[in-house]
Amino acid sequence: MRSLSIDLHCHSTESDGTLAPEAVVARAAAQGVSVLALTDHDTVDGLDAAAQEARHQGVALVPGVEISTLWNGRELHVVGLNLDPAHPALEAGLRDNRARRWARAEHMAEKLKKAGVADADQVLLQAGGTVPTRTHFARFLLEQGVVRELQQAFDRYLKRGRRAWVGVDWMPMEEAVAHIRAAGGCAVLAHPLAYGFTGAWMRRVLTAFRDAGGEALEVCCGNTGAQRVRTSVGYALRFGLKGSVASDFHGPENPWIELGRLDPLPPTVTPVWVDWSSHHQPA
Ligand code: AMP
Ligand code: MN
Ligand code: MN
Ligand code: MN
Repeated sequence: MRSLSIDLHCHSTESDGTLAPEAVVARAAAQGVSVLALTDHDTVDGLDAAAQEARHQGVALVPGVEISTLWNGRELHVVGLNLDPAHPALEAGLRDNRARRWARAEHMAEKLKKAGVADADQVLLQAGGTVPTRTHFARFLLEQGVVRELQQAFDRYLKRGRRAWVGVDWMPMEEAVAHIRAAGGCAVLAHPLAYGFTGAWMRRVLTAFRDAGGEALEVCCGNTGAQRVRTSVGYALRFGLKGSVASDFHGPENPWIELGRLDPLPPTVTPVWVDWSSHHQPA
């Protein structure tokens, strides 16, 4: 029997993915994924369409979101899984984060114009009714021929400290965890090794996250190796956190990341889905 494929982190056109929610689900099904969480940045707007397609495809859709948060002046991404997307406090918190995103996007467009990139405010129109992200700016810089690769857009303009960087006063990490829990969900620290923290800082982050009510870490992430999985397993066991599996798929343009293409969660780690309802239980 084929082993069950689970992927609990990906994006659609509701934030910075390039496939519509339905297309993400259809692609997941085609890739053999049977349990999928759609986790757009600071929005749950794609979940209804995704759930409808998931019923057609026989995929179990886990309602999710990826929240941009601040802890100790640093940005942390907290994924909420298996939550009620209509929970009022969560909705209000996400709305605040989206307002911060729109304000930042306007500020970034101004900065890019000053850096000589004409029409940077087109990005605001292109982001339209969705959630504007730095990825939208990176794609615009690529389309305009200002950079040759997406990565170059981040390295030259969009990273912390670069010309178009604008810091954001995101929702505090503790508040995001509280909203996720109030909505009946599990709070998962996204891509824990991607923040560039030293070991000592990781221990502080994980202590704070766990004390706030965080439940799990993304242990198996898209396009990482066995060594990083081992490191993450060590952190999960040491801090009593469960493990999640998360491609962070944004679209088929990136050949390195595919839905469901992940290392299996090592058996020493308790899966984040261990006590979910039978609907989501990958039994
Ligand atoms: P934002 O949440 O608006 O700050 O945008 C963050 C998003 O930009 C992430 O979710 C990634 O999809 C993307 N991103 C961040 N850093 C990089 C990078 N160095 N290279 C490519 N994409 C990146
Ligand atoms: Mn993203
Ligand atoms: Mn993230
Ligand atoms: Mn993500």
